[in-house]
Amino acid sequence: MLILMKQGATPDQIQAVMGLLETVGIRPVLQASPAATSILAPHASQALKADRLEPMEGVSRVVPITSPFKLASADAAPGRTIVDVRGVKVGGRDLALIAGPCGVESREQLFTVARYVAESGARLLRAGAYKPRTSPYAFQGMGPEALALLAEARREFDLGIVTEATEVETFEAVERVADLVQIGARNMQNFALLKRAGRSDKPVLLKRGTAATLEEWLYAAEYVLSEGNRNVILCERGIRTWSLHARNTLDVSVIPAAKALTHLPVLADPSHATGRRDLVIPCARAAVAAGADGLIVETHCQPSQALSDGPQALLPLDFLQMVGQVTAIRELLVKDHPGATFCF
Ligand code: PEP
Ligand code: MN
Repeated sequence: MLILMKQGATPDQIQAVMGLLETVGIRPVLQASPAATSILAPHASQALKADRLEPMEGVSRVVPITSPFKLASADAAPGRTIVDVRGVKVGGRDLALIAGPCGVESREQLFTVARYVAESGARLLRAGAYKPRTSPYAFQGMGPEALALLAEARREFDLGIVTEATEVETFEAVERVADLVQIGARNMQNFALLKRAGRSDKPVLLKRGTAATLEEWLYAAEYVLSEGNRNVILCERGIRTWSLHARNTLDVSVIPAAKALTHLPVLADPSHATGRRDLVIPCARAAVAAGADGLIVETHCQPSQALSDGPQALLPLDFLQMVGQVTAIRELLVKDHPGATFCF
């Protein structure tokens, strides 16, 4: 259940509710924001009836969480969650833009891309140090060397770093450098990795698996959330269908469908969703129009030389054009929504 406290509820009143929940073996989580204070107590209704909590001083309302996604469910938060990634508010009114090459390939490549990404106004740089590849013979990423370059790029260009953790063993090294740790599509149900991400103090970008339903994706988020990490961002990156014209199929409708079920921010990745440079920008526009809170996009200074995902990498000028277009679409959509957050 979610216990919504009255505005101006005192610390003692909040403590009294938390204390009662603890006496019946529930671990409550205090969710305080300038707008509202609430106490999240998953599974509490099995131990305690709402009518014991509702008359308590300072309590406004008790909302049952009927969804199986006890922490990811839209019922589990008083509003939409905004995840702060090094000052970028993901899930707020502004569109969050993450851009960069598929993988770190060299200092020159990373810094060239980082420079124009920073100039575009985007504040988050993506690039893999560890690459999950279909073939074991394909470029696997530069590992620790890439992490060191990402740390340098972070300082040099004042950009937040988004990079993927592929294994529990290297998670710690990745989270030291990352401002947002990506869990890739192939690892969406790697439960050991999800649990490790749940114990991290860095936000997590959870991509949808290539054959995962919305439910399975939210259960994967629940693995991270239930370990204590409440900063989870979902990312639709295309699913496997019968279409042969593109690498995957961008599931545009899952964006509003996910936002109806969960309070977590939802991003889209039009690069892996299409695999084709000429389809990336139209699909980026569609995702933002459907309510995506941001985009993660691949761009490369010399795509023909890229060691991975060159065919889908946007050229620098195309990337800059896309930023202008998607920002304009977002502005159009939020114009009529006064609050701090934005739903559809
Ligand atoms: C990537 O972001 O480069 C990547 C491998 O993504 P995905 O897990 O969506 O395939
Ligand atoms: Mn890639």
